[in-house]
Amino acid sequence: MKNITVIGGGLAGLITAIQLARAGVEVQLFEKKRYPHHRVCGEYISNETIPFLKSLDLFPNEFNPPNITHLQLTSVNGKAVILPLDLGGFGISRYTFDNWLFEKAKEAGVALHCDQEIAEVSFGDNQFHLNLKSNESITTTDVVVGAFGKRSRLDRTLQRSFIDKRSPYVGVKYHVKTDHPSSRISLHNFKDGYCGISNVEKDKSNLCYLTHRENLKQAGSIEEMERQILFRNPFLKRIFEQSEFLFSAPETINEISFETKAPVHNHILMCGDSAGMITPLCGNGMAMAIHSSKVLAELLIPFCKSDNASREKLEQTYRQQWTTLFAQRLWVGRRLQKLFGSTYASDFAVNLAKFGKPIAQYLVSKTHGNPF
Ligand SMILES: Cc1cc2nc3c(=O)[nH]c(=O)nc-3n(C[C@H](O)[C@H](O)[C@H](O)COP(=O)(O)OP(=O)(O)OC[C@H]3O[C@@H](n4cnc5c(N)ncnc54)[C@H](O)[C@@H]3O)c2cc1C
Repeated sequence: MKNITVIGGGLAGLITAIQLARAGVEVQLFEKKRYPHHRVCGEYISNETIPFLKSLDLFPNEFNPPNITHLQLTSVNGKAVILPLDLGGFGISRYTFDNWLFEKAKEAGVALHCDQEIAEVSFGDNQFHLNLKSNESITTTDVVVGAFGKRSRLDRTLQRSFIDKRSPYVGVKYHVKTDHPSSRISLHNFKDGYCGISNVEKDKSNLCYLTHRENLKQAGSIEEMERQILFRNPFLKRIFEQSEFLFSAPETINEISFETKAPVHNHILMCGDSAGMITPLCGNGMAMAIHSSKVLAELLIPFCKSDNASREKLEQTYRQQWTTLFAQRLWVGRRLQKLFGSTYASDFAVNLAKFGKPIAQYLVSKTHGNPF
């Protein structure tokens, strides 16, 4: 039986590892942080994931995640529309969900190594060799799953081509107490950015935005940028001024890249954002991470149990299935992103949603998959 190493313990890595371990495959997972931890993420998960999560007993019912059925869209200067969502979603913080999945992975028998960053992966003699950041050589393994997210130092050592292209996007996230309706996700535009708000467990709201580095540079600080730029949208001004902020400081990330990536690189099978990241405005990145873990685990289980399965065939099949399922969503997401963050285009998007509901709903459906 072949053994597997998963690099990265976000949704993609943890759910892949759980499926493999439950099927009797020897699997170890390396995560560079400790659980629980916050992540910059809007924390809205598309309902397309529910049948699969329930089938694995991984739907986080015990946290009563709010059921989100409607999308409110506002333009840079505060025009607004509310649309029903065909599929909808649920809200749960990554702090809670990832930590709960980490416990499920432990129960399933995954060998978990936290606080351990993988710095190098090489392939030779049909095996992988992994080194830690401390230069310590740690393991030899038959299969590597790359679930290390949108951007990792490992992408550089692996010489993935997207890593040299600088990205101007910055992400900021808070948890707040406010009077946001629990059935609604709102997407508020502002100059060169958009900010989502939706509820998670325990009546908290997630307030998360994406903007250009240039906004931050010009304003000098996050607080000043919010006051000078986000507050021009009256919806955002009200939320920021009337909410109780629960973090002492915002969670932030930069260099968020939506460049095309390869789902297989140096024989490493990439899963979740490591294979390709969809723009956050689609609210579908986590569903894609979860779905890609399903596709990959279903191919890996028979591969690991067979003595003569072909690695080339495994890689080819995964590449094909990944492309069929996700490539079009990423493409549409990249184009839709252009409708956000400018006065003219965001007014157009709100009017489109108001007067051309079927077109708007069609566009939303093109960035989502069917329930799986
Ligand atoms: C601003 C913003 C808002 C978003 N909002 C939403 C939303 O509302 N809904 C939605 O569905 N999606 C959203 N997304 C996208 C979503 O967060 C991602 O698609 C999702 O987290 C992908 O999961 P993942 O497991 O692939 O990666 P991650 O969750 O990023 O996990 C990767 C893990 O790998 C670890 N790691 C990295 N390098 C190494 C290494 N070398 N060794 C060991 N461990 C390593 C990291 O510490 C991390 O824990 C948003 C993204 C952003 C940026």
